[in-house]
Amino acid sequence: MSSKTALVIGGGIIGAASAWHLQRAGFSTTIVDPGDPTKAASFGNAGHLATEQIEPLPSIKTLLSLPRRLFVAGGPVALPPRDIGTWLPFGLRLIAASIPARFEAGAHALKSLITRALPAWHRLAGDVGAPDLIREHGHFCVWETPATAAAGQQALRGVDLGYASVRDSTTEELALLRARLSGRPVGAVRFSNTGQVVDIPALRARIADVFRAAGGTNRTGSVVQLAIDSGRARAVFVDGVALDADRIIVASGIGSHGLLRGIDGPVPLIAERGYHIDAAIDVGEWPHDLPPVAFGDRSVIVTRFAKSLRMTGFTEFSQVSSPYDPRKWTRLERHADELGLPKGPGRTRWIGPRPTLPDYLPAIGRSRAAGNLFYAFGHQHLGMTLAAITGELIAALASETPPSVPLAPFDLKRFG
Ligand SMILES: Cc1cc2nc3c(=O)[nH]c(=O)nc-3n(C[C@H](O)[C@H](O)[C@H](O)COP(=O)(O)OP(=O)(O)OC[C@H]3O[C@@H](n4cnc5c(N)ncnc54)[C@H](O)[C@@H]3O)c2cc1C
Repeated sequence: MSSKTALVIGGGIIGAASAWHLQRAGFSTTIVDPGDPTKAASFGNAGHLATEQIEPLPSIKTLLSLPRRLFVAGGPVALPPRDIGTWLPFGLRLIAASIPARFEAGAHALKSLITRALPAWHRLAGDVGAPDLIREHGHFCVWETPATAAAGQQALRGVDLGYASVRDSTTEELALLRARLSGRPVGAVRFSNTGQVVDIPALRARIADVFRAAGGTNRTGSVVQLAIDSGRARAVFVDGVALDADRIIVASGIGSHGLLRGIDGPVPLIAERGYHIDAAIDVGEWPHDLPPVAFGDRSVIVTRFAKSLRMTGFTEFSQVSSPYDPRKWTRLERHADELGLPKGPGRTRWIGPRPTLPDYLPAIGRSRAAGNLFYAFGHQHLGMTLAAITGELIAALASETPPSVPLAPFDLKRFG
């Protein structure tokens, strides 16, 4: 067994990918997590490997479009009045990150990660013997009026999509989509070199199995505090037990804020909550090989997973503990019914927090306060997409080998 140890706090997709890469790099690695995966973003997401999204969300364009994108105006963005104390300071930082120079720098940084995201997933899925669970078959974006289709297609012309590319859909593709979607789409584009996770639970189980077979271990529990002493961190549990490790990685999604606050300067993380409805469906109800479909007019995406059809949407800026808003599920169900999506035996409802920083770049780096402390969180809408490359980067940082991507833009010190 290796003499070097690593402790990964958080067993979501970022923690799992990081732990696998650390174990593979020779660290005797433990993942600590409370153990209910269904609450985490890594459970309920759309599984879309969104390599086309190289532009960070904060931009002048986003700010100008906000009024018509608000939930009250029928859009996906919710700013609940009860959570104003949470989203207002976050929003001010988001506005600051939208100025053109910061937007350009952010896009450059995000592109450096996104262009490596799918190759990293192919490597990781191959490592764990599950290459078929990552499918690089692109995705569709559809519109339901001639005006929105023309505007949507026009907006994509000439845009730098990095690793991905886009073209107008063929007549046959549009006919297929119309046949599946109650004749609604009037225009569509097809992206290439994007993709999806075919079965999220199966992929996570595969990573976990291979991690354990390689000597990795799991511990059930919550870290309540990081104790820093003489430039070294220890993870403290609720019963007062403190664990030491050569490398401690905070990969706790939205929980990273509570652990790192006051240690590495401000950590302006918000729970950008999303909602989904999910229907277990039979083989014949929706083609297995139909890639994810994003609906430009409805701001939702539909993904065919191995065993279910899922619609996700909404960005609700709030606290994790705030009450959910059932109107959002009702709206998703209305969309699904209007589009004629199969219901299976019934739809389940889910809500969960995207861990988001105001410049929409993840935090990947090494603590200034403790030499053995690292972090990987804040992957916003792109955590599934970026998990494998993040795991590679964390293993490189922990092994003190040069990372494949310059990590300065992702350092927490950008927030002060
Ligand atoms: C509706 C929705 C749709 C999405 N769609 C996509 C998509 O299509 N493509 C994409 O790329 N991304 C998507 N995302 C984003 C993606 O799901 C997240 O970015 C990603 O799952 C974050 O992973 P994570 O491991 O950082 O966090 P999480 O999945 O939240 O995992 C964090 C883990 O840390 C644990 N933890 C927290 N605090 C502690 C502590 N103190 N001690 C021990 N453990 C702790 C938690 O219990 C949890 O298990 C979507 C998100 C949502 C909500």
